[in-house]
Amino acid sequence: MSKKPVVGDTVWLTRLQSEKYNNKFGKVVGGDQERADVKLTMEPDKIKRIRWQNLMPYPDPDAKVSPAIILKHFAHALAVTRTHYPPKDHLGPTDRDDVYGRIQMVQAMTMANRLQQSQIGCMEMECFLRSEPTEHMRVLMSYRFPCTGDGVVDFTRFGCGVLKPEDKEQRIFKRLTEWFISGFCERCQFAMFEGPTAADEHSDALIDGI
Ligand SMILES: [Zn+2]
Repeated sequence: MSKKPVVGDTVWLTRLQSEKYNNKFGKVVGGDQERADVKLTMEPDKIKRIRWQNLMPYPDPDAKVSPAIILKHFAHALAVTRTHYPPKDHLGPTDRDDVYGRIQMVQAMTMANRLQQSQIGCMEMECFLRSEPTEHMRVLMSYRFPCTGDGVVDFTRFGCGVLKPEDKEQRIFKRLTEWFISGFCERCQFAMFEGPTAADEHSDALIDGI
């Protein structure tokens, strides 16, 4: 279910060798078979010619979701995650200290009815370790890749880049649920599971994928 960018789309520039332009945003204003003409958000007076395969449609990159809506979806996402990760009585290390740590963090936020102010890193695991990581945790930590966004998980951005506006609410819920497991920011989730280049078998992968 991929959607290729067309003229008028806001796009995310991805898999470019240029560090300067990779992971930046622009708008498609024209193009030919091979390359699109892209007006970059960072340099609006310039048009760059970029291969279509390096562009992903990414609507509303600056949209913010209100904390109240995030908390509403978090309550549901937390309940779903808890069915897969029931409470542990002992406080020793587990093979998914990170998941239990995220559960705890969200429980505190939903109880206080307030989103945590300090932001957390994309794929952050270290801060959730209960003690020395288990072998399994070590392996998970070693598999991490560089974040495709700015390295920060900001839940109010979890409504950015939703390809079908009518799916927005459901997508926010899915992304929050996925975050408990992978710790991915919304941009990494888009790249891995939702965007045109995401492998079809991965699209909409949720907790069953682990
Ligand atoms: Zn990320």
